[in-house]
Amino acid sequence: MTAKIIDGKAFAARIRGQVAEHVARLKADHGIVPGLAVVLVGEDPASEVYVRSKGRQTVEAGMNSYEHKLDADTSEADLLALVATLNADPAVHGILVQLPLPKHLNSDLVINSIDPAKDVDGFHISNVGLLGTGQKSMVPCTPLGCLMMLRDHHGTLSGLDAVVVGRSNIVGKPMAQLLLGDSCTVTIAHSRTRDLPEVCKRADILVAAVGRPEMITGDYVKPGATVIDVGINRIERGGKKMLVGDAEFASCAAVAGAITPVPGGVGPMTIACLLANTLTSCCRANGLSEPEGLTA
Ligand code: NDP
Repeated sequence: MTAKIIDGKAFAARIRGQVAEHVARLKADHGIVPGLAVVLVGEDPASEVYVRSKGRQTVEAGMNSYEHKLDADTSEADLLALVATLNADPAVHGILVQLPLPKHLNSDLVINSIDPAKDVDGFHISNVGLLGTGQKSMVPCTPLGCLMMLRDHHGTLSGLDAVVVGRSNIVGKPMAQLLLGDSCTVTIAHSRTRDLPEVCKRADILVAAVGRPEMITGDYVKPGATVIDVGINRIERGGKKMLVGDAEFASCAAVAGAITPVPGGVGPMTIACLLANTLTSCCRANGLSEPEGLTA
């Protein structure tokens, strides 16, 4: 079998297009422009790249982008004061504090100081609880992007067996909640799981979020299954730097029915969903109907 490649780059472009259209209508009909504030503390080069990219795509979608760059030695009190200002600013509908934060700052405290309605990353404890209890929330962007691709590919996910490998708070756990919300039978696997290949082989949907380059091989995949590879690993092979996923693409694609590539799979969906969440937040704040197909 040769798997269908799920093109996340094209899918993300479509989502961004839908967001931009909705933003244009908001502006024309109501004079409202959604705004996203991104806070970066310190000079982590990878984070700087992400933040630049987020800012560019926010503006391209017709929204306002507010970037706040703070020194690496910024105090917790100053960071919390900035978040409080953004919470109170009606022009700001989404607030994202780029992680990881420098070690002297308490990430949980900072994230939980964001107004949950503006928490477009979906990491605030209130949003985690709302998602866990099946209520309307802000959903973490990467799992939301995976869900959108799965719905697009499968139509309904109801009754499918899903295995999520990885139990982090930002990917594995919310991914499992979303799949459960769509009536999959969900297994969460992790580093202590016994006989991981056999567990994975039960899956109609296999989500790899382990942070280990190419760990999931074709031996873990049920014939015809859909493999969603969340991994982003920078490795060096044959003297060349390259990006690979948590799944070994060639062997998985030989067995799977569909697979997301790395790069060009889940990665581009994350920022597209950040824009979608900012739009959703703006609509909710103004009592307007939410954009269809852009939320969980
Ligand atoms: P974490 O390191 O926080 O979590 C990894 C999870 O994988 C843990 O639950 C861990 O288990 C599990 N794990 C590790 N080794 C094994 C193993 N040998 N067998 C089974 N399970 C194992 O990673 P994240 O969730 O933050 O990220 C996962 C991947 O997704 C990474 O490659 C990351 O780069 C990528 N990512 C991509 C994003 C995107 O935009 N596309 C966004 C965020 C992340 P345990 O809990 O037992 O330790």
